[in-house]
Amino acid sequence: MARPLAHLVVSTGLATLQWIQTGRLAPTIAPLISGFLIDGDHLVDFARYQASGRKSEGRIVLPLHGWEYAILLFLVRRILGKQIIDGLLLGYVGHLVVDQITNTTTHPLTYFLSFRWWRGFPSNLFTHTSEAHVDWMNGSLTELWKHF
Ligand SMILES: [Zn+2]
Repeated sequence: MARPLAHLVVSTGLATLQWIQTGRLAPTIAPLISGFLIDGDHLVDFARYQASGRKSEGRIVLPLHGWEYAILLFLVRRILGKQIIDGLLLGYVGHLVVDQITNTTTHPLTYFLSFRWWRGFPSNLFTHTSEAHVDWMNGSLTELWKHF
């Protein structure tokens, strides 16, 4: 499972490339923002699980994890041509590539939001065991970052 340190290293590397290419602050910070904020969507599933009285529904939504957003950012970049969109796209793609490579998935299309939606957001797309998907949701909110 990808840890925050892996995302920090990748995002910092991409931010450095942005700094070298643009010399501007906003496009440089953009990959750091998009490379980290994406995992904030774990809070959605955490809150949903807590609100249900910790009853596992066997579902994980992760609404910000989806290659569709990268395609959308790419199209927006083509239309607006802004360097900050390049930075957001780099950070976002860097995050998903790290997740795709390091996280356990049971289907190659798991990181497509539309695919997960079509399948009903089953947690078994992310793990081979039914209990593993609730490990991070059974912990405290302050320790949630350890499972990103
Ligand atoms: Zn992630």
